[in-house]
Amino acid sequence: MPLASDLVTSPIAILSALPQEQRGLMELLQRPRKVIHASRDFWLGDLHGQPVVLALSKIGKVAAATTTTALIERFGVLRIVFTGVAGGLGHGVKVGDVVVATDFVQHDLDASPLFPRYQVPLYGKTRFHCDAVLSALLFEASCHALAHESRMAHGFAGACVHQGLIASGDRFVSGADESRRLRDLMARAGHDVLAVEMEGAAVAQVCMDYGVPFAVMRTISDRADDSAHIDFPSFVDAVASRYARVVIERFLSKL
Ligand code: SAH
Repeated sequence: MPLASDLVTSPIAILSALPQEQRGLMELLQRPRKVIHASRDFWLGDLHGQPVVLALSKIGKVAAATTTTALIERFGVLRIVFTGVAGGLGHGVKVGDVVVATDFVQHDLDASPLFPRYQVPLYGKTRFHCDAVLSALLFEASCHALAHESRMAHGFAGACVHQGLIASGDRFVSGADESRRLRDLMARAGHDVLAVEMEGAAVAQVCMDYGVPFAVMRTISDRADDSAHIDFPSFVDAVASRYARVVIERFLSKL
């Protein structure tokens, strides 16, 4: 656990996967300074009076692990928050809802029969947990953001915030049959997945290796079904950046 005195001085990292998700945060950043490292742009500055580093994980687990490692090793961050989009997999997880992760599993990891399906070899673990305190703050900030969006007539009717398991894998899930199969297969193995994306489990594993607390919120951009490839880009452009901005502003004001 980081010391309280270190938390005051070390920046908090705010990760997004895509530039469209980061745009709203960039607009808020005070005294921005760019550092290029590991073929990535890291933006240092202040957000809501707090020192922050904004970074893109890029897409997929390996890219996300590289960005996360750089944030910790090079920029000395002691807390990481991820805002992005995901496909809704669980029943009742709709486009426009938000999922705050409790933990992560890699749906494409399979070293069976040497290790149980989904288990990360040599870790003896299948699920990697988020920090409870940061996640509670992010949950509150997400509820606040949805209420704000609905007041501004931007929101999605009946949108709500869920909390639970997210599955990550190096695949854009975009078929009704595929997503149903994935959900049922994982449920049979005891993993009730709410949403699917491509980075979170990698960030979670690196953060566990370093003992860095982290939390994740994902706005649901699509249902990982036959229209996911159409729903995803329009949602990312129109909505994801605004959600990230409102959530992070609220989150930092309560930190
Ligand atoms: N070339 C595309 C790539 C998007 S990949 C583009 O830039 O337009 C999809 C991104 O959104 C990933 O970062 C992933 O984490 C998330 N995501 C959203 N819906 C998803 C789904 N149905 N399956 C997997 N990842 C999804």
